[in-house]
Amino acid sequence: MTEILDGRPVAAAIKHELQSTIAAMASPPSLAILQVGTDPSAAWYVRSIKRATEGVGMRFHHVHLPQEVDQRNVIGAVQQLSADATISGIIVQLPLPPNIDANLVIAALDPRKDVDGLHPLNAGRLTQGLPSLLPNTPAGGIELLHYYGLPIAGQQAVVVGRSNVVGKPMALLLLQEQATVTICHSHTPDLPTATRSADLLVVAIGRPAMVTGAMIKPGATVIDFGINERDGKVVGDVEWSSAVEVAGAITPVPGGTGPMTNALLLRNTLAAHLKLQQGE
Ligand code: NDP
Repeated sequence: MTEILDGRPVAAAIKHELQSTIAAMASPPSLAILQVGTDPSAAWYVRSIKRATEGVGMRFHHVHLPQEVDQRNVIGAVQQLSADATISGIIVQLPLPPNIDANLVIAALDPRKDVDGLHPLNAGRLTQGLPSLLPNTPAGGIELLHYYGLPIAGQQAVVVGRSNVVGKPMALLLLQEQATVTICHSHTPDLPTATRSADLLVVAIGRPAMVTGAMIKPGATVIDFGINERDGKVVGDVEWSSAVEVAGAITPVPGGTGPMTNALLLRNTLAAHLKLQQGE
């Protein structure tokens, strides 16, 4: 019987705990989001983050710059938020318009407020196995594995995708948890052979239903980070109908890794807030 790794109750428990902690605090954490332009999916994300932060009692701060803003002003806005003592965490909504170098913008963040875990200092600390603000999506994947008691140490883990936001940090977190990790990407010559070797298969490609059941080792654990729209429905990077017949455990889309990302972002914001209060 395939175990369905439902992220919703896990995320709800994390948010419940955050809510109780924040209710007892004299000054709640506040999360700022910097948005550039008018992309509708970015606007949807901003609304969902607003709901989530306010739902646990945090403050929400939205900085919205026009599409035609120049790089200097975007960096200026990030620096201003970084210097603002009332702000605990900052998200830069990606992607930024093509004329703006996202790496320079991220590097301008105060790394202590980098609640997406993308600043080079946090990414470097993760690489070295040192405590840091972690990217929320992969951290949520690890948390799900722990919650459902699935083994990581000693497992053959295969991560498909190597973005700085999902694939690469996930591979590093699995390595820290003592898995043997292979990273695949668009230049991997024989993807099915690689994926079929995995006890623990992690998929973060951004292509709907690309990984089929035939590419999964029977009984493997499958973490699908993909969120894609197809025929008006949200689907993962893994083909659910065939994968669920083969996997031992699998995250659904929606309702698997997605809710975890949100919950861990809020947890990172509280952690950043507490550290800033302690003057660290
Ligand atoms: P990116 O586009 O940044 O990275 C995709 C990765 O997949 C790249 O490393 C790319 O390889 C690899 N890839 C592309 N095509 C293939 C292929 N044919 N075979 C093997 N590898 C391939 O995407 P993200 O990492 O940002 O996102 C991945 C997915 O996760 C998306 O569906 C996104 O919506 C979702 N997502 C989900 C979140 C959640 O909360 N669950 C949060 C963030 C993202 P290469 O490097 O060679 O180009």
